[in-house]
Amino acid sequence: MMDHKKTEPDLSYRNGIALYGEFTAIENRKVRYAVSLTERDLTIQKITSTPAGRSKVVYNLKDCVGCRAYRGDDNTDTAAYFSAFFYPFKKRWMSSGLSRQRLEQCFRVELLQDSRANLEEAERWARAIRDSSVRHQHLRNGVEFSEVRRPCRVMLLVNPQSGKGDALSLFTGHVQRMFHEAGIPHTLVITERQNHARELVREADLSQWDALVIMSGDGLLFEVVNGLMEREDWREAIQIPLGILPGGSGNALSASIHHYSGAQAVSREELLVSCGFLLCKGLVGRMDLTSVHLSSSRRLFSFLSLAWGFVADVDVESEKYRHVGAARFTVGTLVRLASLRVYQGKLAYLPAEAEEERPVSIEVSPQRPPPSAFCPASLLCGPAHDSPAPKATHTLHNSCHSNNSFKGKKNEAMPGHRALTGPPDSLLVPLDQPVPSDWVVVKEEDFVLMLAMYQTHLAEDLLAAPQASLEDGIIHLFYVRAGISRTALLRLFLAMEKGMHMATNCPHMVYAKVRALRLEPYSPKGVITVDGEAVEYGPVQAQIHGGLARLITG
Ligand code: ADP
Ligand code: MG
Repeated sequence: MMDHKKTEPDLSYRNGIALYGEFTAIENRKVRYAVSLTERDLTIQKITSTPAGRSKVVYNLKDCVGCRAYRGDDNTDTAAYFSAFFYPFKKRWMSSGLSRQRLEQCFRVELLQDSRANLEEAERWARAIRDSSVRHQHLRNGVEFSEVRRPCRVMLLVNPQSGKGDALSLFTGHVQRMFHEAGIPHTLVITERQNHARELVREADLSQWDALVIMSGDGLLFEVVNGLMEREDWREAIQIPLGILPGGSGNALSASIHHYSGAQAVSREELLVSCGFLLCKGLVGRMDLTSVHLSSSRRLFSFLSLAWGFVADVDVESEKYRHVGAARFTVGTLVRLASLRVYQGKLAYLPAEAEEERPVSIEVSPQRPPPSAFCPASLLCGPAHDSPAPKATHTLHNSCHSNNSFKGKKNEAMPGHRALTGPPDSLLVPLDQPVPSDWVVVKEEDFVLMLAMYQTHLAEDLLAAPQASLEDGIIHLFYVRAGISRTALLRLFLAMEKGMHMATNCPHMVYAKVRALRLEPYSPKGVITVDGEAVEYGPVQAQIHGGLARLITG
């Protein structure tokens, strides 16, 4: 173990090899390894006198979250150590599927009797492995991904009530160690009530943080996104990289991110490990947000879905089955199928193709007209609101912020708050005016459901919009007309597990790619959900804003 050799002094990549060294195993110092590092992988070969024993193991650095150097516990030990942490795909126990599983490789460095020199050498290796594992991952499918700053200061928001109420133990059990391995310092914030996170990010000094990560279902991210969009500096605030770890019962965005990474569908803890891994890799992409106008002139921002009818009812009614975790939607679907009903209303949308010439970008002129007092309709760019607006805006923000006495009222995502910030909605006209002439007005007025999606997954096991991507600037609109049988609807939902519902050729289901939509339900009572959260029921319209937010996607 004394004959550790250092053949390459730096990262010069001679013969593709950046570093070469010989180290001993931690458990057994008689076992020695030849270790070489290239830009792509770490190769470990046992050194033995018999060629047959020289098995070689190659680890892809794409699967590496980090590497740490350290000294041994024993003070008399002059050696240093380094451990590299990999999460490669491996066959799951008792199944043919693949999921990421942890693998640690440790080496003992004993170059000299000098403990400092040994630690320096171990650190040099750890640094080189870390650097190589973040290199070469920046351009995928022609899309430029940026990386979160390192070391990255993460505010980790956990909703202790989400899912089965075990988000915190899921974090400590599956992700905390991975964050340590990746060298990601984080501050844990446990939410105390609904809208706590929303108030917190609305007031936070964001310069203290490099990313906001939530460990919950989609509901907590909905709070964070809206908290950011309610800030006066919303334009900068919404640039902060957001991350999500599945800790709730509705983990649709987590499932979508996992799906975008190209991995096989997994659930529960495996999804958590996958999302934790992608977070540690820290690649940031852009994510569409949809602005949603409700009848009392509130505006919300949504990253996932807008639902009415069957899906919205299941979302809300399945609350009582939350102890079964993600399966709550399956249970809720079966229960609702038994009392299937029809919902009356008027639906209209702006098709994506017909709208090519119009701007859908998030670009906002710095001189955009400020909102007039409590009339967020002025955020619309309809013909009735073309007049130049007054200059002073400060008092508006004050009134906006003074009205923030959130009481965590159930079934209402944003009690008493009016969002006056955010980009104008160039495609919408006020709700009391007819939709523009280039919109399609749906003939039927009897529906079973309306579902607008901007990411692929509606739940962990519901691939509702297989064509969606993080930043396609498109609302994937589905509606199911009345007249569908229970069996046919059940068949649709079963097919949705694999994203095959379009292939069922169900004559009652319609799918359209749209940029904006409006729904006017007729019945006085009902449920509308935004990102799985019940919002004020009534007329609603929405438009997409391409790439408005940033998301850590891996
Ligand atoms: P789930 O997927 O299990 O529903 P969510 O993240 O969607 O988990 O959270 C459910 C609801 O709980 C959301 O409406 C969210 O705003 C709210 N919430 C957040 N923090 C708390 C808390 N500490 N106590 C109660 N409710 C909370
Ligand atoms: Mg939820």
